[in-house]
Amino acid sequence: MSDKPHQNLAVIGHVDHGKSTMVGRLLFETGSVPEHVIEQYREEAEEKGKGGFEFAYVMDNLAEERERGVTIDIAHQEFDTDEFYFTIVDCPGHRDFVKNMITGASQADNAVLVVAADDGVQPQTQEHVFLARTLGINELIVAVNKMDLVDYQESRYKETVEEVTKLLKQVRFNTDDAEFIPTSAFEGDNVSESSENTPWYDGETLLEALNNLPEPQPPTDAPLRLPIQDVYTISGIGTVPVGRIETGTMSPGDNVSFQPSDVGGEVKTVEMHHEEVPQAGPGDNVGFNVRGVGKDDIRRGDVCGPADDPPSVAETFEAQIVVMQHPSVITAGYTPVFHAHTAQVACTIESIDAKIDPSSGEIAEENPDFIQSGDAAKVTVRPQKPLSVEPSEEIPELGSFAVRDMGQTIAAGRVLSVNER
Ligand code: GDP
Repeated sequence: MSDKPHQNLAVIGHVDHGKSTMVGRLLFETGSVPEHVIEQYREEAEEKGKGGFEFAYVMDNLAEERERGVTIDIAHQEFDTDEFYFTIVDCPGHRDFVKNMITGASQADNAVLVVAADDGVQPQTQEHVFLARTLGINELIVAVNKMDLVDYQESRYKETVEEVTKLLKQVRFNTDDAEFIPTSAFEGDNVSESSENTPWYDGETLLEALNNLPEPQPPTDAPLRLPIQDVYTISGIGTVPVGRIETGTMSPGDNVSFQPSDVGGEVKTVEMHHEEVPQAGPGDNVGFNVRGVGKDDIRRGDVCGPADDPPSVAETFEAQIVVMQHPSVITAGYTPVFHAHTAQVACTIESIDAKIDPSSGEIAEENPDFIQSGDAAKVTVRPQKPLSVEPSEEIPELGSFAVRDMGQTIAAGRVLSVNER
């Protein structure tokens, strides 16, 4: 690991606009593609008699692999600039992106939006911008990509910038915080080096813009919240719950409580990487052991917190959601599965309290009969089994969720307030 501050970066945009290619290009040009992968492609290139070793060849190979149905894992790839150490979080389009973005280790700090200049704003462009907004991404770098396909015309670039600006204003993104860059991920224009093909552009390259992002907010001083991923029994130690600390710290001697299972006790030991540690903090994956808590007392989806400030358990909660894709309409009484941190619980949308106008953030309609794809709304949610969540204003790490049904993510949202049991 590096000493530089860390950024989780999401790369969003409509399918085929060039997200994977852009990530590939960033990794390649920052020297972050593992040596053995480069070597493998170099050898193949030579075998096939393709002169030299070209980035395009690497990407062609990836494209071929994709056609064969091999998953290319561009998620969790890493690269660094002078200022920051970046981790690419799951890419949309990849299975379960939204779910991972919300429930996994992959909450993004900032995002790159890729929009192809020859295709403009498309449904997923809109959806991802909505999502980024809902999940609290602050800064957006917009790569107006595939400039090579529009002959590097400034007019086409400007049209795309205008179209995207309109979209950002709709969801009240501060467009002063968005930066636009004409790129070709394929040819490498304005990614790490200023391109001669765009003499009319004198702004930053993509890597410069990434390097100049503001530093991510430091973790909140919220109390301990540790969603449980698994519970093991280890001989000689006993019951060992494991999970990632989202907020706060944990030390031996702490008095903790697991919710909603509602059991607790004193922490005996905390381990990281199979070694006992005196304290663990946000981002640390830990295994620990609590006096008197057995394997059957707790389960995945529980959240561990201080006994004197335990995780909230919702009887109901109010939330703001964005409907991303639903084949028909959502009405009160609908009961899909909510994924929040490590929990998966069927929840009923008890009432749709208001439809929100994304352009103003104001209430557009009180108590609408239904909502559908593209709508933002305030809803009241009743978990069908006990569920621990927190208002996202207080603990953002425990305040967002994905809504899944029929094998796909149909909505995403954040918790506004919790009515505790
Ligand atoms: P994703 O679905 O957004 O990840 O898009 P991909 O990165 O898979 O790219 C989709 C297609 O567009 C592939 O065939 C790429 O080779 C091509 N592509 C990506 N970026 C560019 C670009 O800047 N210029 C051109 N001409 N093609 C591009």
